[in-house]
Amino acid sequence: MVKKFDYEQREPFKIIDNIFYVGSTFVSCWLFTSKDGHVLVDTGLPGDGTYIAKHIEQLGFSVGDIKYILVTHPHVDHIGSLAYLKERTGAIVCAGKRDVFFIENDNKVVGSDVLELPEVEPCKVDRMLREGDRIEVGPISLRIYETPGHSAGATSFGFQVSDQGKEYAAILYGGFGVNVFDRENRKHNVYGANIDMYIASLERAKNFDVDLWLTGHWFFDRTFEKLEIMEQQNEIINPFIDPDGWNSFLTNHINEAKELRKEISV
Ligand SMILES: [Zn+2]
Repeated sequence: MVKKFDYEQREPFKIIDNIFYVGSTFVSCWLFTSKDGHVLVDTGLPGDGTYIAKHIEQLGFSVGDIKYILVTHPHVDHIGSLAYLKERTGAIVCAGKRDVFFIENDNKVVGSDVLELPEVEPCKVDRMLREGDRIEVGPISLRIYETPGHSAGATSFGFQVSDQGKEYAAILYGGFGVNVFDRENRKHNVYGANIDMYIASLERAKNFDVDLWLTGHWFFDRTFEKLEIMEQQNEIINPFIDPDGWNSFLTNHINEAKELRKEISV
């Protein structure tokens, strides 16, 4: 029996500057745009690709102008439509070095068939991302951070956003979620999930300068709540500028992970 995910497609929207949400009601996919081309981060579940492409076009951008597709981590909800979108866009696919195997091979070879997840079409990775690398397209500049734990090669992206004449430091943190460490989810270890690494990566992230933060799921960074605030009020400051939210989320999440580590180590 293959596990079903309960979610819907949703309309795309701009959050700030050149950054757009093109994900579903379950998984976030992020589009960074520029006149020189675009960068897409993550691709949803199998079958989401047609909607992601449609939503990008709906925003007024051409999918053929996507130069890079970046992978935060190789779980089915983030790489499900990677092969489809690579084919459709001709983009260069990039992922963390230690995640490449899981993206390039099918469920059975990877061993993730034991998770009873939908089959993912394997996809060739063109470029491995390493700490300190940069992905650059015109004015888009994403700095690579290796943040292993949720998977062995989980990768995050640092960048600057500008809003109303001010510059802000931002991060797209790839690979949140302690779900993979639950006793019944231990099979996620096939992806190199490791709670000590996970906590170490989060502890390191505490030192990052972060005003705006994005993740792979709206329920972590409260994307949809922030969108509502943005739509309802004419806030002077964009609600996605949320350094306090980042700090408290990180602190709480680290504590949660440490509690879980105690539980699973007994
Ligand atoms: Zn995941």
